[in-house]
Amino acid sequence: MVLRAKPRVLVTGGAGFLGSFLCERLVEEDCDVICVDNFYTGRRENVFHLTKRKNFEILRHDITFPLYVEVDQIYNLACPASPVHYRYDPVQTTKTCVHGAINMLGIAKRCRAKILQASTSEVYGNPTVHPQTEDYWGHVNPIGPRACYDEAKRCAETLFFDYYRQHHLQIKVARIFNTYGPRMLHNDGRVVSNFVVQALLEQPITIYGDGSQTRSFCYVDDLVDGLIRLMNTSDEVTGPTNLGNPAEVTIRTLAEEIIAISGSRSKISFSPLPQDDPARRCPDITQAQRLLDWEPKIDRSIGLAKTVDYFRNQLVDPPGKA
Ligand code: NAD
Ligand code: UDP
Repeated sequence: MVLRAKPRVLVTGGAGFLGSFLCERLVEEDCDVICVDNFYTGRRENVFHLTKRKNFEILRHDITFPLYVEVDQIYNLACPASPVHYRYDPVQTTKTCVHGAINMLGIAKRCRAKILQASTSEVYGNPTVHPQTEDYWGHVNPIGPRACYDEAKRCAETLFFDYYRQHHLQIKVARIFNTYGPRMLHNDGRVVSNFVVQALLEQPITIYGDGSQTRSFCYVDDLVDGLIRLMNTSDEVTGPTNLGNPAEVTIRTLAEEIIAISGSRSKISFSPLPQDDPARRCPDITQAQRLLDWEPKIDRSIGLAKTVDYFRNQLVDPPGKA
């Protein structure tokens, strides 16, 4: 690693939902930030305000191809995260996770940079252990429609730990649980953005299944704080570390909360549950509390209100409107 006054940080997927908030925080912390994105699900508008800053640059690049940059830290976030988008081109999803990880680990090896992988609670699949602890190996269908994401993220974790053992890289693996907030795409099919947009448009709220399945939703600011804390841990901390909000909620309750917060008259509609949809999901964050002194601070009521405000403004004044 080269000693620089300010760390030079590569953020892949930096124009996406989580990546753009991460870039913002790193720019504020005076890092030199290189954002790499192929704009598959990311948007230039998410980081446009940063392009005026001297310590921020953006490169259009697909991480499945080699990249040559000199950096001290890498946050590897590039990968579509919503089922609609990762299932649209499943081969590209696997390539992004696997070839992308190999290319980014290659940079880390050459530059002796620290590298953090944005892994996911999906590595636990439809879990048989609840809440999920990091030592649980998961219950994943390797040939189902979600496998391009779940298995590719698992393979990326394998690569990270093999580079750690074989090449002594400084790795950090974060297993991110469902995260929400402003800048989610209105059409990415994830539950929070779907329900908020439907509520604001007074359309039916589309619950898949009977709504008894659970998730645990973390507001984006909390999550970004956890990622930065994990990157800044001492060398022996590798993870995997769960990052998420342990406040578990049924999808039915989430729908009712969003209807109430947005003041909508939408009614709930029910349609079939997608294949392999996990029944329960909740992180055990004991490890993150201990190692990172981190836990989410933003209640769902506050995070959802901020998200509703964001989408309300988007619907009134969408980006690109003349
Ligand atoms: P997102 O889709 O908004 O962001 C992903 C970004 O990666 C986009 O900007 C996209 O254009 C870019 N990208 C995709 N393929 C690429 C490629 N081949 N080369 C370069 N850029 C590419 O999703 P997000 O919610 O911000 O998720 C970011 C990361 O966090 C992903 O790796 C995702 O798996 C992980 N994660 C997110 C959540 C969540 O709830 N948001 C949960 C678990 C894990
Ligand atoms: N879901 C739903 N209606 C929607 C979108 C999603 O009921 O319009 C459900 C989905 O079936 C799942 C949960 O909400 O049980 C979370 O879905 P999401 O795609 O946001 O995340 P993931 O399944 O990857 O956790």
